[in-house]
Amino acid sequence: MRKGPRKEEEDRQIPAAEDRAPALPLSPSELSGHLLGAHVSIAGGVERAVERALQCGFSAAQIFLKNCRQWRAPALRPEEASAFRKAASASGLFFFGHAGYLLNLASASDLLAEQSLQALRDEVERAKLLGLPFLVLHPGTAARGEEPEAALSRLAHRLRSLFPKGSLQPEVGIALETMAGQGSQLGWRLEQLSWLLEELDDPRRFGICLDTAHLWAAGYPIATPAGYRAFTAELEERRLAARVWAIHLNDSAAPFGSRRDRHEHLGRGTLGLSAFGQILQDPRWSRVPMVLETPKEDGGEADCRNLRAILPFLSEKPPGTRLEKARRAPKNGKKALAFLPDRTYRVYHEST
Ligand SMILES: [Zn+2]
Repeated sequence: MRKGPRKEEEDRQIPAAEDRAPALPLSPSELSGHLLGAHVSIAGGVERAVERALQCGFSAAQIFLKNCRQWRAPALRPEEASAFRKAASASGLFFFGHAGYLLNLASASDLLAEQSLQALRDEVERAKLLGLPFLVLHPGTAARGEEPEAALSRLAHRLRSLFPKGSLQPEVGIALETMAGQGSQLGWRLEQLSWLLEELDDPRRFGICLDTAHLWAAGYPIATPAGYRAFTAELEERRLAARVWAIHLNDSAAPFGSRRDRHEHLGRGTLGLSAFGQILQDPRWSRVPMVLETPKEDGGEADCRNLRAILPFLSEKPPGTRLEKARRAPKNGKKALAFLPDRTYRVYHEST
């Protein structure tokens, strides 16, 4: 996904994470209670993901439940699932899942929609077996030339059918991801996500996942303090702030507002490091898991470097604002944050 050096990047002299930060694993004291990590591979068995996350010193990690570019996958063996649950529980890490890329629950084709729904049901079952609290899902795409409204209604209808009526405690929630808006992609405008969540009317089962690279490419100017303030004000206004269950920390190789989805190492893209500072220092997200989805050409080392590049933001607090803000933290924000960790710990404790 990563492209070669670009002219404008050289001109701007953006400090690259690789040039600034060593590839040393993180230590818990450096994370000061934040849930920080990366997407980790499940190659060689899902329990290997725990090893990989521990090697880098993460406190949170995202995994796929199966190959993300295939419809079918061998069933998850019970011993594999229990090995993961044990290891994950012992690690104390916050794990959550990401659903496959082929799914399109908004499809105008009933056949593709049914296939997507079945695949998602299978992924939810896998997540349940692994004790994951939620799955991040791409909202999908509208048909070519179609207005998004019709596609969004189909999506809401199908998502509702995912959980049988009257079922008790939701075991695995769905976090709809903010997208870059490529082609006829849905979910790149906050109003679409807020419409969906209102329509679904089930805050325990449905939340959202912010992706910094997607937000930037979609035209939300989160790089500057004023842009970030406007963005979070819109999140609050649309009642989405309290529904943020996870954040993807990615820089963008595509320009602001380009509606193109190209992830880049932190500080190497058009978004820049300071955007991540604003997110890390925002008390609204102090208990929301944040994970990288940046290129991994040198294995776990790239993840360590990318996280080390933004760690200084955790200790450098903006004077006079953080405590004040924490005291005034929105009640709805508190509710969502209390909800997430409790649920994970509950699931983990049951598994041990
Ligand atoms: Zn995603």
